[in-house]
Amino acid sequence: MSWAPLLETQERAVKTIKNSIKKDRLAHAYIFEGPRGTGKTAVAKETAKAFMCQEQSEGEACGHCRNCKRIESGNHPDVHIIQPDGASIKIDQIRALQKEFAYQGMESNKKVYIIEHADRMTVQAANSLLKFLEEPLSHSIALLLTEQVHRLLETIRSRAQLLSFSSLPNEKLEVYLQNENISPALAKMAAALTSNTAEAVEICREEWFAQARDKVIQLTEELRKRPDYAIVTLQENWLSFFKEKEQLTAGLNLLLIWYRDLLSIHLSETERVVFIDQLQALEQQALHLSQRRIGGAMLAILSAQKKLGSNMNPAMAMEQLVLQLQEG
Ligand SMILES: [Zn+2]
Repeated sequence: MSWAPLLETQERAVKTIKNSIKKDRLAHAYIFEGPRGTGKTAVAKETAKAFMCQEQSEGEACGHCRNCKRIESGNHPDVHIIQPDGASIKIDQIRALQKEFAYQGMESNKKVYIIEHADRMTVQAANSLLKFLEEPLSHSIALLLTEQVHRLLETIRSRAQLLSFSSLPNEKLEVYLQNENISPALAKMAAALTSNTAEAVEICREEWFAQARDKVIQLTEELRKRPDYAIVTLQENWLSFFKEKEQLTAGLNLLLIWYRDLLSIHLSETERVVFIDQLQALEQQALHLSQRRIGGAMLAILSAQKKLGSNMNPAMAMEQLVLQLQEG
């Protein structure tokens, strides 16, 4: 990893860190706050590399020196990562860290510690860390990562520089996924379902998801071409595939996107279509469905999701839905 892909996704946070390293003006402590999957850990690791690198230039780690390689593989003796031990980070973990820091760095005097889920420190652990932050050692940096910054002690917050990590806007997430070798159609779909980068990548890598997408296309085709058979397709193909309630909910989310696409076509907003490889089929279906009927179909899908949520029999909820979609 280098800064480049991280700059794409978290420009502001990365620029701040990179410039500070370049000018040798890193703060002693940072809080990286933001939702899951926004790259906090990756940026923390890259920060450690650029800070410790033997051939750092312009705030960028070289990537091949001894320090870079060992940080990349997760076994540099002066880079410590602390994670919750069970539900919380305990005082013993912070004490062990302090003990470690009492010694000179093994190879240089630089040290880095990264605390993941810093908001899960027990009160004792947090107070212990606070003392540590009050007497910063020269040449050491602390990176506190959290999804819930308001849960950190105010006294800790005031001793660290806060950097916010945000979820990617839709188009950026799509580009990011495509750079990960994910097809444009799948990338668009995943970005429509979540704004969480890590989750979007997971979705795309799951074979199930691509299959689910095919099932949805198949059902809409049936509804369009042979509406009387849709119920058979449902029973033979859908219900055996979307077995769990969660899966069925995901399937209905995809179906909802299909109808939203139909609406986008009606409104001449083709650029918003998510099933981009199905444009022809969508356009054809849009010819036969009025906006009102599309709106009605979307409401019916939402109502089916609600029924599932309140534990209605899935087969029954789906049959009702297909009947409504047939009638439009
Ligand atoms: Zn290096």
